[in-house]
Amino acid sequence: MNVLERFLKYVKYDTMSDENSETIPTTMGQMVLAKELKKELEELGLEANLDENGYLFAKLAANTDKKIKKLGFLAHLDTSPDMSGKNVKPRIVKYVGGDILLNEELNIILKDNDFPSLKEYIGQNLVVTDGTTLLGADDKAGVAEIMAAIESIVENEEFIHGDIFIAFTPDEEVGRGPHKFDVEAFGAEIAYTIDGGPVGELQFENFNAASAKVKIKGRNVHPGTAKDIMINSIFIAKDFMENFDRNDTPEHTEKYEGFFHLNEIVGDVEETNLDYIIRDFFEESFEGRKQKMKDVEKSLNEKYGEGTVTVEIKDQYQNMKKMVEPHMYLVDYARAAMEEAGIKPIVEPIRGGTDGAQLSYKGLPCPNLFTGGENYHGKFEFVSVQGMEKSVEVIKNLVRIFANAN
Ligand SMILES: [Zn+2]
Repeated sequence: MNVLERFLKYVKYDTMSDENSETIPTTMGQMVLAKELKKELEELGLEANLDENGYLFAKLAANTDKKIKKLGFLAHLDTSPDMSGKNVKPRIVKYVGGDILLNEELNIILKDNDFPSLKEYIGQNLVVTDGTTLLGADDKAGVAEIMAAIESIVENEEFIHGDIFIAFTPDEEVGRGPHKFDVEAFGAEIAYTIDGGPVGELQFENFNAASAKVKIKGRNVHPGTAKDIMINSIFIAKDFMENFDRNDTPEHTEKYEGFFHLNEIVGDVEETNLDYIIRDFFEESFEGRKQKMKDVEKSLNEKYGEGTVTVEIKDQYQNMKKMVEPHMYLVDYARAAMEEAGIKPIVEPIRGGTDGAQLSYKGLPCPNLFTGGENYHGKFEFVSVQGMEKSVEVIKNLVRIFANAN
């Protein structure tokens, strides 16, 4: 099966993950797809093992005695809970420019004005949705690409390779992907996630991330007799917010800039809660941001009384750069693999996290490579067929480059 056929098959499986679920994997649909993939891998002659948590590991044994680094490729089984992934009706459009009508009845249009990068795809075949679901290219394009590359390697006896390890993992979209990932059982020394966007993407840096829950206690009494007694937590929340630069926020930052993001505020006189997330690429300024939160807490408590403001900070994930840097050949090889496929690598930091970040800290350095899709997590998601084919080529090139390295 070629990469497109595989992709069209895999998106038919509803594998949306669910952050409110306590089970592992969070949804059973992921298990159904994992079982099918296990069968396909075994049919290709690989050893495959699916554990009860929904982690599918497989190994294609080396066909040479040469000592070659144990290379892994990863993709995730689940799709984002942001939009339904049930009854996905993919459609292939030969893109000639302009808008793409996704759904005539509901008047859902993928507009080139809203998505200026569309023009890069003129002349390519795009797989699009019918506007009622996401597509699931994140990350079934990655799954299909790895599978197609493996199939092609297996079928070509001349293709010399070392041990190749494959992992398809659950619950990436709810941040639990690597939680039960047994790096030792997997077997690879280094790996790539195939979970990026447009062709050329090569990522080995991501945010350091923390959440901050700010609780502000007030004192509510009858407004008629409130003088010098009432403490309105809403106004203290305003004081809290005003300690932070209005431009130091997601909507005013890009590239290597970090931010404070006030995600939610819920309050009344008695109590106000603010939910922040903190993001920064650099360790020192990341720590500085967390400290700033504590400093504001302290100064407001000095003003309004001890215990008025409490800030609870939790680290979420770290920049993988630190863990990848000692293995920079990973990035160099990926660049070379892309250039061999006629692709110009786009090396940019991820303004978010990836499974690879957590895995890098678990001892499996893991940069991220493109899948060829865009507009993930929503109905405007699409993937380029030519882009998926390029990804297959890059994966094969990587296997070859590793096999030829000393
Ligand atoms: Zn993904």
